[in-house]
Parts: sequence; C-alpha cells; structure tokens
Amino acid sequence: MSYNIPKTQVAAVVPGPGKRLEIKQGEHVTQQSELEPGQCLVKLICTGVCHTDLHASRDDWPLKAKTPLIGGHEGVGEIVAIGDHTERSPVKLGQRVGIKWIAYSCLDCEPCRNGLEQNCLEVKLSGFTVPGTFSHYVVSWVHHVTPIPDSLDSNAAASILCAGLTVYRALKYSGSKIGDWVVLPGAGGGLGHLAVQYAAAMGMRVVAVDSGEEKRKLCLELGADKWIDFKETKDLVKDVIDACDGKGAHCAIVTAASPSGYTQAVEYLRRGGTLMAVGLPAEAKLEAPIFWTVIKSIVIKGSYVGNRQDAIEAIDIAATGKVKVRYELKGLSDIQHVYDGLQEGKIAGRVVLDMSK
Ligand code: NAD
Ligand code: ZN
Repeated sequence: MSYNIPKTQVAAVVPGPGKRLEIKQGEHVTQQSELEPGQCLVKLICTGVCHTDLHASRDDWPLKAKTPLIGGHEGVGEIVAIGDHTERSPVKLGQRVGIKWIAYSCLDCEPCRNGLEQNCLEVKLSGFTVPGTFSHYVVSWVHHVTPIPDSLDSNAAASILCAGLTVYRALKYSGSKIGDWVVLPGAGGGLGHLAVQYAAAMGMRVVAVDSGEEKRKLCLELGADKWIDFKETKDLVKDVIDACDGKGAHCAIVTAASPSGYTQAVEYLRRGGTLMAVGLPAEAKLEAPIFWTVIKSIVIKGSYVGNRQDAIEAIDIAATGKVKVRYELKGLSDIQHVYDGLQEGKIAGRVVLDMSK
C-alpha cells in the first residue's frame, strides 16, 4: 500500500509567542523519506480543540510552546507512512489512530518505567513542542498513537484522546468508589462533560458545578445528580455540602481553567476527601488552609493527561457507548472563533474540527 502524499498543506499556525493565529497555505508536509525510524505520518480526519491549545496560543503558561506553532492534540486520522527501519511497530499502514498530547516518551527513564510516560524526561508534546493536529498531516510516533476501534466514529473519538483520557485517569487515581460524591467544577466544558459521564459510569454520584442554562441542561442530561451554578450561588461551600448529604464531597476533580474553580474545594470536601488538580489556570496558586488540610486528612494530587494504557481504556469505554463526546463540528478556518468561545466560557462540551471542511 502506498499513498499519494502532497508536498504542502493548509495549517493553523501561531507565528510567535502570544501572536494571533493564522491559517497558512503552503506548509511543508513531511514525506516518507524524511520520517525517522519509529515515526509515522497521519492524515487527519478530524481534531478536537482543547483549552490547552488556547493556553499555548496565548503563551500564558510557565511552560513554553515552540513557535511557529501548529497546535492541536486530539486528532484522529489514518497512518499513510511509517519511517524506514521502524522496529516492532504496534500499528500498521492504513490503520486509524489517535494523536494525543504525549506524542513521544522514551519508555526507558524512571517516570516511563513507573508508567508516568507523561512525565518522561524526553517527552514530546503534540501541538506544543512538536507540530500538532491543526493541519492535514501530522508526524507522530508508532508506539504512542492510540488505535481507534472500528466501532468508534472518528469525530466521537477525537476528544477522548485528551479530554476523555485526562478525566478518566483523574477519576481512576482519585481512589473514588461506587456511591461516592464527586464534585466537578468545570463540568459543562470539554473535560468536565466527559468527567460527568465517566464518574456516572463508575457508579459515583456527581455534583456538576459550572454556569448557564445550556451547561446545566447538558450536565443533568449526561448523568449529574446535582447542579450548582457558580455564578449564581451565594455560598458554594454550603451548597456543595448540602448536595452531598450534608457531609461534603468525597472528591473534587477541578477542570475549570480559572483559579476560582479551585477556591474553597478543601472546605467542601469531607474528612479524608481528595482534591484532583486538573485544570491549568495560568499563574494561579492552589491555596488550602494547612490546619484543615491536616485535621481533615485531605489528599491533594496533580493529575496530568495519562499514559498509553489510560488512553486505550478511555477509548474502549467510549466505544461501548457509555461515554459520548458532545461536540459541534466546525472547520479549520473557524479555529480563532472557537478560541474566543473557550476564552469566554461559551462552549458547552467540545468543538471538533472536520478536516474535510
Ligand atoms: P473548557 O473551557 O472547555 O472548560 C472549562 C469550564 O470551566 C468552562 O465550562 C467554564 O465555564 C468552567 N469554569 C470556569 N470557572 C469556573 C468556576 N469558578 N467554577 C466552575 N466552573 C468554572 O476547557 P477544557 O478544554 O475542559 O480544559 C480545562 C482546563 O484543563 C484547561 O486549563 C486545560 O489546559 C486543562 N487541561 C489539563 C489537562 C491535564 O492533563 N491536567 C489536560 C487537558 C486540559
Ligand atoms: Zn487537551
């Protein structure tokens, strides 16, 4: 099998740190002969747009993206080339695969050996340190692309590769169990609306926290037991404690991209409760009263995307139909508009870009 690979393509490019995004023609497409062993070229079908892409384009994080930057890390496409001398490839030409945030990890350093591939010392990040999925072709690594099962549609799979994977792992490592109350600040967003569903599928009871009628409806439809509008509540701590049988929540998974999503989490957790930090507001500090953190035996954990196994599990659950991405389909040229919507908190669920549009 061999594919006709064009020399150039259209891509959404951030020309320099914090510069406005441009849709550019004539961007180079890596050819088969230019691939290194272990690399593959993927022709993209679609890609999700994550709030992380907005952070990267605004250059508001302490971690810096490489510019000029082609963002995007929730892609699904077909493998159209594999580098010569690639050994033991787990994927083959023509296979449909997903591109996630972790494009490459060495698999041999201490974090990798411990299953923390996302913390690899030589990690490469799609759409951040290597070109991402806001283009028609992307280079990735055969050991890190995620096979997509035939039963899962590409558009439905895309946002599982970051949003789904991230919240699935956060729930898995939170120690929460069936019947526990889980609070989800950011529940109506890309990560949050999937967290509602994974948590419900795992048998947890969900308090969704976000704002606006559209997100309220979405969260309750997807299985949230309770809803709190963070812009309308007069006392968030009291409302959460009341919602959780008057005792507070067992766990909070914060996916809000603003510092306010973290405020008061320690206060509304019950004794022995766990705070999973997932949302990445730039330059914010996590403030927790030491006294109550100790006296209530609170656990605070950072949770960063997931490894290859987490990705496969998150995708498999989506393939069963228990978790469904709610997305609106747009084209690559709409991307600035999507960023504006994310910035203003106006997007319920996700936007997926169809690369044929
Ligand atoms: P999103 O914009 O789709 O969703 C964020 C949601 O938070 C919005 O619905 C917004 O209304 C809500 N929100 C804002 N302030 C709030 C508050 N005070 N209380 C409750 N809800 C509030 O963004 P997303 O794509 O879901 O990403 C969310 C964050 O997670 C971003 O900072 C992103 O960079 C980060 N992220 C982290 C990881 C990780 O590995 N830890 C992975 C992917 C994304
Ligand atoms: Zn992401």
